[in-house]
Amino acid sequence: MATANFVRFTMLFQRIQHLFKNRLPGQLVVQLTDQCNATCPQCGMRRTEKFPRSMLELDEVKRIIDSAAANGVEAISFTGGEPFLYLDRVIELARHAGVAGIRYIRTGTNGFMFARFQSPRFDAKIHKMLEELACTPIRNIWFSLDGESLYI
Ligand code: SF4
Repeated sequence: MATANFVRFTMLFQRIQHLFKNRLPGQLVVQLTDQCNATCPQCGMRRTEKFPRSMLELDEVKRIIDSAAANGVEAISFTGGEPFLYLDRVIELARHAGVAGIRYIRTGTNGFMFARFQSPRFDAKIHKMLEELACTPIRNIWFSLDGESLYI
């Protein structure tokens, strides 16, 4: 019985492999930093954790992107930590990835910029951020809204 199940599983796996063969672009995930301004209890990168934070060097990431593009990678995700703490870097790297020929460029945020929506400068700040993002080849932005998160 166990052997029959194994054979069925193997056949299913092979069919799935066949189904997706050459259809899913290779993906590169770049964790730019382990800095974050949220306090999600399940995450070791929350801002209340005491450890030396780090940040990848821009030129190093650009070399990685170039190498990935040369090897056929078509999708890249810039993660953290909280990438939007360093939006200028994300934008620069996204542009670099676009020039390198990577088609699917993604990044995400915990949404901290929406926390102070009652501020008189809120609309202007969000508008500026969206204008900057609109001038990039970034294709998708995810928002990880976590009810347990608190932002500074
Ligand atoms: S927002 Fe993300 S990186 Fe930051 S503490 Fe929460 S789960 Fe961790």
